[in-house]
Amino acid sequence: MWTEKALVIASSNAGKVSEFKRLFLELSLTVTSQNELGIKTPKETGLSFVENSLLKARHASRLSGMPALADDSGLVVPALDGAPGLFSARYAGVKASAQENLKKLLMDMIGFSGIERQAHYVCALILVKYPEDPDPLVAIGTWHGRILEASRGQGGFGYDPIFLPSGQTLTAAELAPEVKNKISHRGTALTKLFGQMH
Ligand code: IMP
Repeated sequence: MWTEKALVIASSNAGKVSEFKRLFLELSLTVTSQNELGIKTPKETGLSFVENSLLKARHASRLSGMPALADDSGLVVPALDGAPGLFSARYAGVKASAQENLKKLLMDMIGFSGIERQAHYVCALILVKYPEDPDPLVAIGTWHGRILEASRGQGGFGYDPIFLPSGQTLTAAELAPEVKNKISHRGTALTKLFGQMH
């Protein structure tokens, strides 16, 4: 049972922060973003989404003196040994656009077929009550599907136009946002996290 009354969101992404703020309204939590407190994201030196999410949450909690929520997410292609993985946002280079990252992935997968085109998104959400919390709330959501050979759809972001979720005929970029938010890796992780907080 979560009894704290305030929380800092360890993310500098304005879209994510407002989404989290809206979701936490129902828990009567005062939510502040790390940007509002002048806290910068630390170096993400972990080897997994969970490690990086935990690093970010502990850092924001240490600097704010408040409980902190962090998330880390990306796309994993097992046939590419997990790439783009932790480097999903900068797969084609530090300053690469989402379109350039997507194009690189399509190129890397030329000649791949069947099971080799399987992929999944991962979202690791972590909530710490204090910087050295030995018992953080950890919620991991995954969203399985396959990588198409060409883009379809204008919605979503990142790799969504080439990600066809299992059991769907529409890509993640063609799905209505409400549908994507409910079934995505992020939606699943949030539902799991809320389940641990109530
Ligand atoms: P971050 O956790 O917001 O830094 O996301 C890392 C990167 O993973 C994004 O820049 C995208 O490339 C990719 N990614 C994470 N979630 C999604 C998603 O829902 N759709 C498409 N790409 C995603």
